[in-house]
Amino acid sequence: METTFSYNRTPSRTGYDMVIVGGGIVGLATAREFLKRRPDLRLAVLEKEADIALHQSGHNSGVIHTGIYYTPGSLKAKACVAGHQAMLEYCDEHGIPYELCGKVIVALDESELPRLAELYRRGQANGVQGLEMAGPERLKELEPHAAGIKAIFSPNTGIIDYVKVARSYAREIQEQGGEIVTGCQVTNLDSRSNYTRLKLKIDVNTHLEDEIRARYVITCGGLQSDKLSEMSGKGSPVQIVPFRGDYYVLAPEKRKMVNGMIYPVPDPRFPFLGVHFTRRMDGQVWAGPNAVLAFAREGYRRWKIRPTELFQTMTYPGFWKMAGKYWKMGLEEMYRDYSKAGFVGALQRYMPEVSSDDLLPGPSGVRAQALAPDGRLVDDFLIQHGPNVAHVQNAPSPAATSSLVIARMVADAAEENFNLVGQK
Ligand SMILES: Cc1cc2nc3c(=O)[nH]c(=O)nc-3n(C[C@H](O)[C@H](O)[C@H](O)COP(=O)(O)OP(=O)(O)OC[C@H]3O[C@@H](n4cnc5c(N)ncnc54)[C@H](O)[C@@H]3O)c2cc1C
Repeated sequence: METTFSYNRTPSRTGYDMVIVGGGIVGLATAREFLKRRPDLRLAVLEKEADIALHQSGHNSGVIHTGIYYTPGSLKAKACVAGHQAMLEYCDEHGIPYELCGKVIVALDESELPRLAELYRRGQANGVQGLEMAGPERLKELEPHAAGIKAIFSPNTGIIDYVKVARSYAREIQEQGGEIVTGCQVTNLDSRSNYTRLKLKIDVNTHLEDEIRARYVITCGGLQSDKLSEMSGKGSPVQIVPFRGDYYVLAPEKRKMVNGMIYPVPDPRFPFLGVHFTRRMDGQVWAGPNAVLAFAREGYRRWKIRPTELFQTMTYPGFWKMAGKYWKMGLEEMYRDYSKAGFVGALQRYMPEVSSDDLLPGPSGVRAQALAPDGRLVDDFLIQHGPNVAHVQNAPSPAATSSLVIARMVADAAEENFNLVGQK
């Protein structure tokens, strides 16, 4: 069900009830949720790029996570478990293809067994359905080419194309009377007692400026979330540090070596899951992503450098505290970034038969990772609510899986904080 879309190039009004900044999967899901609850809202989604879902929402592993990894009781755990279910129902209803091809999380040796057992307990505590502890024979049955002595099998982990999901949310927003404006960058938010003035750059090439007002603003800016928060004058409790992740693509004749997904047991000190093999909806198999500091927030290539952004990262006190804690891991990641042999070596631990020739260069994504001033990598989703502006500050993986539920959380809180109850 592929449709051709067109979005507005400029806002059609000067005033809105609600403006959502950011046309990624979280912003679009949030806009959709508000219009479902309040069809009369004059609502616009403003996206700085020429199309929606061009950043994290269009550069990810495409996995529908089930919620195994996350601390019980955290927003991530709740939103992922409920979000998995909500995503499947949404796709069934809207004819978006997905596949529950299942995944194994593999312990390579005895030293990883306690962490594997802990993950299994977490999954159970979070209410993830269908988890199975698989011994070596069962693992061979599930993934004949995977190494490992034991694994968690999650049969309900699935794959999907999140750009299709984002486009479907966008279509619903438009059908409901909402506007989606692309090529429209918010450059300032000036909050008054009962409205916010938004300064816009509506043509990146001509630098044409515009200004609109909105009673309520919700920012879902991904890699720019802290900048948007700073614009509204309240500062930001965190700074976004971009982590690039590169993928290799398995040569077509080797795809059959992977049935579903093969993941490592993640290092609990680190928010990323480690390089893995993932089947894609188009039949490809991707291997990755690694996690290296990017020198630009939207730096999809190794040498894309934005000096001001790099300077901001380097002068943030939390960055050096984080670097002090994770320098060894950081250096290993950098080595694998520059050396294909290093990357292949990491993959061969999970699939010994794979060789360098089997791995072709693939795409990259950049993760928006929120970092606290004390050097803590903020693990959970973080949403900041104010009287008429709210900021989604940290929405890393599994925010695509969880998008429908994050949207409900944002809308529930906004109904209360914005005192929307009873208003049109
Ligand atoms: C490599 C990688 C792999 C991942 N794998 C998975 C996975 O398998 N499963 C999963 O569930 N999640 C995964 N994720 C996480 C998931 O992709 C993100 O959590 C999710 O896409 C976040 O959506 P978002 O809308 O918050 O951000 P984004 O998609 O980044 O959207 C933010 C939007 O805001 C716009 N914007 C920013 N500033 C402004 C401004 N001033 N004015 C107007 N617009 C602005 C940006 O242009 C952008 O389009 C992965 C992420 C990465 C990077």
